[in-house]
Amino acid sequence: MSEDHIYDECGVFGVYGNAEAARLVYLGLYALQHRGQEAAGIVSSDGVRQYRHHGMGLVGNVFDRPNLDRLEGHIAVGHVRYSTTGQSVSANCQPIAANYHGGSLALAHNGNLVNAFELRRELESNGAIFQTHMDTEILIHLIAQNRTKDLRDALLPSLKRMQGAYSMILMSEDVMIGIRDPHGLRPLVLGRVDGSWLLSSESCAFDILDGELIRELEPGEVIMINRDGLHSEKPFMTTKQHLCMFEYIYFSRPDSVVENQSVYENRKQLGRQLALERPIDGDVVIAVPDSSNVAALGYAQESGIPYEIGLIRSHYVGRTFIEPDQKIRHFGTKIKYNPVRYVLEGKRVIVVDDSIVRGTTSRKIVTMLRRAGAREIHFLSSSPPIKHSCFYGIDTPDPAELIAANMKPNEIAKAICADSVYYLSIEGLLKATGREANCCLACFSGEYKAGRPENFTKDIMEKARR
Ligand code: SF4
Repeated sequence: MSEDHIYDECGVFGVYGNAEAARLVYLGLYALQHRGQEAAGIVSSDGVRQYRHHGMGLVGNVFDRPNLDRLEGHIAVGHVRYSTTGQSVSANCQPIAANYHGGSLALAHNGNLVNAFELRRELESNGAIFQTHMDTEILIHLIAQNRTKDLRDALLPSLKRMQGAYSMILMSEDVMIGIRDPHGLRPLVLGRVDGSWLLSSESCAFDILDGELIRELEPGEVIMINRDGLHSEKPFMTTKQHLCMFEYIYFSRPDSVVENQSVYENRKQLGRQLALERPIDGDVVIAVPDSSNVAALGYAQESGIPYEIGLIRSHYVGRTFIEPDQKIRHFGTKIKYNPVRYVLEGKRVIVVDDSIVRGTTSRKIVTMLRRAGAREIHFLSSSPPIKHSCFYGIDTPDPAELIAANMKPNEIAKAICADSVYYLSIEGLLKATGREANCCLACFSGEYKAGRPENFTKDIMEKARR
């Protein structure tokens, strides 16, 4: 994974029916930490009162024994955040907690609403006072402005007004609700442990609890869990699924299962497909660690070229660090990666990364490999070229900054100082993952099947958030 990368917005985790609900959520969030490192939060409920703790930083920094002990109750919902809407400040931590005429609510959201601007403007003109800059808060206001006290009756019409990507966990005093948008853009899975119900962005978080994966929520499914058990319904008109393909390429952990498919196996197939599409006479295949390890392994297995660890990634680098006064070239990249000269010297090196976004980090990595003695460098991306912005909860730069939107592969090779550059084809991506058109490819194709904000400019969105 490179620094100039695209980032997922967040991960959500919920537990219903366990005396240690908050502690289980805490562990679940640990397993989902890769989905967001800016902030973390948990809200719990004992059936009467809600308890909340959140903060900026990693799960392990935000929570300790005393604050976890204060999160009482048999239900808890948690969230790890990487911000794509709303500033990176403590007020924008999730889950959002609120009191309204029907009781108390807490909401954790993964995704992005494409009609957030219009909904927020409408709600504000009806008197709503927003506490955060997040699109997530819109659902709270839609529910609160509904006159019914019955949560289900207020929720379903509210959901029908929202467009875009949302996998959510909503909690009231004694109910936990899992919600997946009709396009099924972001994943949400249901599990069990010791008779308790679990909801999670990814199945790997069940493994840490010795929990069992029951199934994926279907696109457009709403699951309500309370003391009577689980009730499922599909209140939306049937829509074709459009799962985000970056869940397989990069976001989800390889030990997760997404839509009944092993992320590990799919990622390996991406590498195999790359080798079929772009055979190269090379000496060694290396990955840009860690998210490209499995795809690089697939390339090596298909091509018969040895797989080696040519870059070592430090796992102890936070998001901020102090650079020495004496400027070191490419300091940010160097502190994260170091090349293994023994593997690279005099070799024709095939590098596999999961994407090339702006190309700035790719160039630094290629420079680093050349300095370590690589004779040839062929840079392969296990995703197709990213040419368009994502409006569904993934932080992508403006198309003006996306290198593939502005250059051809041979020009990109020159720009990043590689001997060649190749991107997996869209057809190859579909073949490797066994999906047909039931997925989102908008950042590659520009076809936004789940809608896009009207009159969108980054400027308008930024102003809307302030
Ligand atoms: S536009 Fe790209 S990153 Fe965004 S949801 Fe679709 S496939 Fe995923």
